[in-house]
Amino acid sequence: MSLQGQKTRELYQRAYNVIPHGVNSNFRYWGTDDTLVIKKGKGTYIWDMDDKRYIDYRLAFGPIILGHAHPVVNARVKEAVDQGTLFAWTTPLEISVAERISRLTGVDKVRLTNTGTEATFHALRIARSYTNREKFIKFEGHYHGQIDYFMYSTASSNAKMMGSPRAPIAAPNTSGIPKGIADYVISLPFNDPEMLERTVKARWGEIAAIIFEPIMGNAAGILPDPEMLPTIRRLCDEYGIVMIMDEVKTGFRIANGGAQEYFGVKADLVTYAKSLGNGYPIAAIAGKEDVMMTVNPGGMAHGGTYSGNVAGAAAADATLELLETTPVIETINKRGKALMEGLDEILTEQDIPHVVTGVPSMFSLLLGSDDKPRTFRDYLNSDMDLYEEIGMELAYRGVLPDSDGREPWFLCEALSEADVDETLNIFNDSVKAVKK
Ligand code: PMP
Repeated sequence: MSLQGQKTRELYQRAYNVIPHGVNSNFRYWGTDDTLVIKKGKGTYIWDMDDKRYIDYRLAFGPIILGHAHPVVNARVKEAVDQGTLFAWTTPLEISVAERISRLTGVDKVRLTNTGTEATFHALRIARSYTNREKFIKFEGHYHGQIDYFMYSTASSNAKMMGSPRAPIAAPNTSGIPKGIADYVISLPFNDPEMLERTVKARWGEIAAIIFEPIMGNAAGILPDPEMLPTIRRLCDEYGIVMIMDEVKTGFRIANGGAQEYFGVKADLVTYAKSLGNGYPIAAIAGKEDVMMTVNPGGMAHGGTYSGNVAGAAAADATLELLETTPVIETINKRGKALMEGLDEILTEQDIPHVVTGVPSMFSLLLGSDDKPRTFRDYLNSDMDLYEEIGMELAYRGVLPDSDGREPWFLCEALSEADVDETLNIFNDSVKAVKK
C-alpha cells in the first residue's frame, strides 16, 4: 500500500529529483511511497494532488490554530502586502502585534523574528549576555529548533540516547555539530526537580539559562509534574539564571496567554512562533523588561532582514485579534476533549494499554503501557511501532495525525463535531485493522 495516488506520485518523483528526499524539512519525509504532495488546504482539511481529502491533525506541526486559508487572516495579509512587503523600518503592524502579544501574555517587551529556531537562538544569546555565563540546561526530549546548541537528546529511539536515565549525557541528534558544542549543554531528564536542584546548586556559576518546553510538545505532549515549573522558577530566582519558556508550540494554543497563563508561572524570556501567525512566517522573543533590554544596538545583537515582515505581521495581527475577540481556544478545547475521551474509550475497548497525554488543543497517545509517562525515556519505551501502524491505517482512511508519536495531534478552530465523529469512526476501524 502507498499513500500516493498517481498524480501525487508523479509530482513526488519530480520533487525527489531536485530536492534532497523531495522535502524541504527532514520531518516531512515519510519514505518514498508515503510522502505527500499537497494541492490545497481549507479549514481543518487538506487535499493531496489526487484530490484525496484528509482531516489534518498535523496542521503543519502546530501553526494552523484557526484553520487553513483562513479568510480573515488572508484578507489582512493581502491588503497589507499590496502596500509593500519589507522596508527595514518599523511598521504600524509590528507595533500592533507587539502590543497584542504583551496584552495577551503579560510580557513587557517583544522582538519579532521569523521562525521558532531564530527565537530560541536569540533568547539563548540574550540569556548569555545578561548573565555573562555560557552553559545552559535543557531537558531530554525538548526540541528548540535546528541550531547546533539545541540539537541534543530528542532522538527517535532509545539506542540514540546517551548515558543512563540517572546520569544522562547530551546526545547529538545530527552529524555536523562541532564536538565542543556539547560542552555548553547540560542535559537532564524532565520532571526530576531533585536532579535539577542538585545540578544547579553544583554548577550555577556557569549556567546562563534553563530552557524548556512547558508541555513536551515534541514528546507526545507529556505534562509537567505540578512541582516542575515552580522549581525551575525558584532556582532561576535564587541563582540568577534566565528562565526561557519555549512556547513555540504552546503559545496562543493552550490558552491566549500560553503556558504562562495555563500553569500560572512567569518566565524571564518566552519564545513564540507557530500559532502566532496561523501559518505565516512570524515568531517572537518576549519577556521581562530588564532581560529583554539586554538587546542593544550598541551591544547585544538581534537582527534579521525579514524580522517583522509585513506578511507575517499582518497574519499575526489578524490571528491575535481573533483570539482576543472570539472564543477560539474554548471551541478547540471542547472538540479536543471529546476526541481525547473517544480515543481513550476505543483503545480501552480494544484492550490496548495506553495513556492519553497532553491537553485538548495538543494531545497524544502512548501505547503499550497504562503507566503515566513523565520523561522522554518513558515515551521511548512506549510501543512506537504500534502507534505508527495505527497512524498509517488512519492516513489511508483520510485522518492525518503525524505517524511519529513524538508529534502531538493538533486541533484548529475549524474542526467540527462531525469531524470529531468521523475521526473516531476511522480510528476504530484503523485499530481493528491493525489488530487483525
Ligand atoms: N521550539 C519548539 C518547542 C518547537 O516545537 C519548534 C518546532 N517544532 C521550534 C522551537 C523550532 O521552530 P521552527 O521550526 O519554526 O524553527
